[in-house]
Amino acid sequence: MPKNWKTKLIHSDARVPEGFHSLSTPVYRGSTVLFANASSVNDGWDQYEIGYAYGLYGTPTVLELATRVCELEGGFRTIIAPGGQAAISLLNLALLKAGDHILIPESIYTPNRKFASLVLRRFGVEVGHYPPEAGAGISKLLRPNTRLVWCESPGSITMEVQDIPAIAEAAHRAGALVVLDNTWAAGVYFDAFAHGVDITLQALTKYIGGHSDLLLGSITVRDPKLYERIGDTQQLVGCGVSPDECSLALRGMKTLAVRLQTMEASARALAEWLATLPEVERVLHPALPSCPGHELWKRDFSGSAGVFSVVFAQSLTKEQVIRFVDALQLFKIGYSWGGVTSLAVAYDFHGIPNRPNYGARIVRLNIGLEDVADLRADLEQALKAAK
Ligand SMILES: *Cc1c(COP(=O)(O)O)cnc(C)c1O
Repeated sequence: MPKNWKTKLIHSDARVPEGFHSLSTPVYRGSTVLFANASSVNDGWDQYEIGYAYGLYGTPTVLELATRVCELEGGFRTIIAPGGQAAISLLNLALLKAGDHILIPESIYTPNRKFASLVLRRFGVEVGHYPPEAGAGISKLLRPNTRLVWCESPGSITMEVQDIPAIAEAAHRAGALVVLDNTWAAGVYFDAFAHGVDITLQALTKYIGGHSDLLLGSITVRDPKLYERIGDTQQLVGCGVSPDECSLALRGMKTLAVRLQTMEASARALAEWLATLPEVERVLHPALPSCPGHELWKRDFSGSAGVFSVVFAQSLTKEQVIRFVDALQLFKIGYSWGGVTSLAVAYDFHGIPNRPNYGARIVRLNIGLEDVADLRADLEQALKAAK
């Protein structure tokens, strides 16, 4: 069929050589996916079963990231979400209904807690909280309608390490599922499924991305039924992800081991040094005995990440703590973590119920890839400036 040039713009006969094998996964973009013929058209979402159907369910770049996260975590399938918080809300929407009860540790990532309090409650889900140290004691809080027990270990900012096997045993006895936010351990320093967890979740934004320039989340399950439930909901909620973001995450993943090793070593050295200072009341780093749940970290984890918190001595005022953070030069001030740049954020726990008595003396540090002696010198000069 002869073609007008305008048609050629859309339907080209130009051909390039085949056989280009790069080490990186191509960025496959696409909303429309072509079917071979009219009778093979299919609007199912499970592309592992039915083949590619629509961009929303993941292009090959997205599924490459999903299968790689799944491989690292030892799951059956992983679903990629637009961010860690999106993974949290998607999971809740997929598994909960009015009349269900869920339990959330007091130490959970604040937007996770808020989604439960502000959204799930609106849809008739009962939300309870439990102390992160509960362990087997959580059985007292479990009810016949408890559907999900959330865990995050170590907890956000206050870093309590949880007894996941004990919680999982109690939850399973009561017929509840256990979901773990495994972001701190990057999905590699804590084997969630080996410790009884049913669903793991990560903000890939943090260590997998690793460069503070993307937002992605993951949900990994071992049970095919849970995969179906979450996949069905992802289709209807319509939260697909960009293959460009996934391509960056795949690149980040290749250097995860060396980044983590360096950050782990620097963070431990700085945490141990900070713990010796008279200005510091305690250091909340799971590898230090001063961290709640340190023994559990020793028992269950194979390493530690680069994020920890410092609680300053009672003698330091809120103003001095703020001055300390402002005086830092290499450490920048900003949310999120897991990137190559060191960060510091001061928190104020006044007025937050059921939280440790850290007042406005707590600062969370993200340790990046700068030279550790330079980071220590920066902390030292900022402490002097604060006083
Ligand atoms: C950052 C974070 C999230 C949310 O991830 P985003 O990608 O920023 O939405 C969830 N859980 C934990 C523990 C986090 O630190």
